[in-house]
Amino acid sequence: MHNAAFRALGLDVVYVPFEVHPDDLEMAIKGVRALGLLGVNLTIPHKEKVAKFLDWIDKEATRIGSVNTVHNVDGELRGYSTDGRGFIRALQAAGKSPKDSRAVILGAGGAARATAYALAQHGASVTIANRTFSRALELAESLSPVVEGEIKAVSLNGEAAREAISVADLLVNCTPVGMYPNVDEQPIPSEWLHPNLFVYDQIYNPLETRLLRAAKRSGAQTANGVGMLVYQGAISFEIWTGQSPPLAVMERAVLGIETNSVDD
Ligand code: NAP
Repeated sequence: MHNAAFRALGLDVVYVPFEVHPDDLEMAIKGVRALGLLGVNLTIPHKEKVAKFLDWIDKEATRIGSVNTVHNVDGELRGYSTDGRGFIRALQAAGKSPKDSRAVILGAGGAARATAYALAQHGASVTIANRTFSRALELAESLSPVVEGEIKAVSLNGEAAREAISVADLLVNCTPVGMYPNVDEQPIPSEWLHPNLFVYDQIYNPLETRLLRAAKRSGAQTANGVGMLVYQGAISFEIWTGQSPPLAVMERAVLGIETNSVDD
């Protein structure tokens, strides 16, 4: 996705993967500065641990306790989180406004944290439904003081989750349930779905999860995780280059569609 975008804009930049052992994170980050890299993305398990090695962290990343994008500005390492903003842009692009929505988030991990924060900041009331209720509660309690909207917690396995979904207009799957290779799994029973829901599944492999198929059958509107993946990457691209990201090029790269033209 990033290499396709750099090529499309004729930028002399390349995106490469590095596998970093958790014990070597500090050294790797010092290496970003020493080698004069433009920046890096970080993923599990480094997102929550990297903050102490950076020089500056933006408000959103500080509040959710997670950094997925580092920008090296003349040796000053700046940290950002682009997942939540990427999700909101993808949701809006799919035709669903977060404002005044009643949202239920499935899961309480890193993606759920960024999503709950972003939705609450955009005027949604949020219920977090998680398999391990204590994690849902912990997430709701840690975010509530720093967001505008309301955040509640319920157990994913109980009646409270079914009730919350029955009155919701937005359901966001932030669990890996249904992701390849476990494509026959579904995080909630199909009977809980209804036509007033917009169901956003953050999974992008497969493109249509079992949850999305069931949601369509129930009459709900749906979107998959490709949009979020592209938009969170596009925001990182903008941070690193200061240029407008070629969204269509990035999306085609994510979907594995060959492209040689710049027509975004
Ligand atoms: P994570 O931190 O490991 O959290 C996973 C969450 O899912 C936990 O709350 C966990 O519940 C729950 N869970 C796991 N297995 C479950 C099961 N069998 N039944 C019910 N709940 C289960 O993972 P993450 O980083 O938040 O990622 C979650 C998903 O979002 C992944 O599929 C990832 O690919 C996707 N994602 C997509 C994008 C995108 O750009 N589209 C970005 C980020 C993440 P417990 O607390 O009970 O363990």
